[in-house]
Amino acid sequence: MKALMLENPHTDADPFLTSAGLAVTRHPGALQGDELIEALQGVTVLGIRSKTNVTAEVLKRCPSLRCIGAFCIGTNQIDVAAATAKGVAVFNAPFSNTRSVVELAIGEIIALMRRLTQRDRALHEGRWEKSAAGAHEVRGKTLGIIGYGNIGAQLSVVAEALGMTVVFYDKAEKLALGNAQRMRSLDELLRVSDIISLHVDGVTSNASMFGAEQFAKMKSGSIFLNLSRGFVVDTYALRDHILEGHIAGAAVDVFPSEPNANGEPFDCVLRGLPNVILTPHIGGSTLEAQVSIAQFVGTRISRYVMDGTTSMSVNLPRLALDPSQDTKFRLTYVHRNTPGVLALINQALAEHGVNITGQILGTAAEIGYVITDIASDIPDSFIAGITELPDTIRLRIID
Ligand code: NAD
Repeated sequence: MKALMLENPHTDADPFLTSAGLAVTRHPGALQGDELIEALQGVTVLGIRSKTNVTAEVLKRCPSLRCIGAFCIGTNQIDVAAATAKGVAVFNAPFSNTRSVVELAIGEIIALMRRLTQRDRALHEGRWEKSAAGAHEVRGKTLGIIGYGNIGAQLSVVAEALGMTVVFYDKAEKLALGNAQRMRSLDELLRVSDIISLHVDGVTSNASMFGAEQFAKMKSGSIFLNLSRGFVVDTYALRDHILEGHIAGAAVDVFPSEPNANGEPFDCVLRGLPNVILTPHIGGSTLEAQVSIAQFVGTRISRYVMDGTTSMSVNLPRLALDPSQDTKFRLTYVHRNTPGVLALINQALAEHGVNITGQILGTAAEIGYVITDIASDIPDSFIAGITELPDTIRLRIID
């Protein structure tokens, strides 16, 4: 079995893949369209980062592909619905760079509260500007976190360690960590926070969720951070509030429109504003995060290839089954989610005199996935019968 790794995921992924019997080939850049299709012939596992587009056409023309590892957080570059319909498992690393984002946010909060970038720039330009004006400790200040998911919750813990009071607002029910307090509404959070940090996810309904109305409700002299997604904030409104002096500083890592490659020009209405830190979407970009992503996705792929485990899969029902001592073979079966499929498999096994030693089924929307362990050889006629079933997407036998 072959694995093709594009876009240079960290090499810590490779031992996981080779331990699963995969021969790993690496190509430094992204591949697209026909070039990608050609490179994928005979390949079982594809590893990518954010720039390789795995379209429905690619999936259709690469029948050997069984698994895609996105060595990044997002999976927008993959037609996940098409992958699911073909029974191709997709894995990503949803929280392997969480800590990196949190550390950048903490660094930026302190930098903004002390006006570090302004002091630094002045000194580089040859001006001595020693002053306490507009400089504050973070201890005792209230940090308002919007979106208390992986990143928001971890930021909450680290901020408390610095002596900050943490409040948060999340549209979903969340466990408040440490002494953090849940706010009943976004307005309540806006009213009490000295610093606001946005960590919502990228669902389309969050487009422009933070604009003029929300900035106007923030405390005068407060600080704003967006390290989540560019399209969730109205940057024109942020610019207005900074120029008015209502917002004392901001850190922005994500933008409505971002260049595709290093060296390309970048423009944004926030450029050149005082006490505003702009970073090129590097919240999660640390070597530690790259290693963590490689290990996380590498593990998911190797488990899937070796025993069909789909824990943390983006698209297939998430299953893990420990084989019993009597198990000789494992069947993994992806099928359309219609009633009676499991009964059909089990009936066919019974008719062939095959004993089941363990079994687990999961369904998600239109897809079903069954792992079945059996104690004896599998007759070819059973395999042929199951393969021909109209609801079959993919049958695999693991010994
Ligand atoms: P997550 O899915 O774990 O958490 C998001 C939280 O936001 C959830 O708890 C959700 O309920 C909440 N939420 C969504 N919409 C909301 C709304 N309108 N109001 C209140 N709460 C809302 O995501 P995460 O892993 O914590 O990541 C958070 C964001 O950070 C994502 O947008 C992600 O893309 C981004 N991110 C950026 C970088 C970077 O480099 N800057 C790196 C990693 C993640």
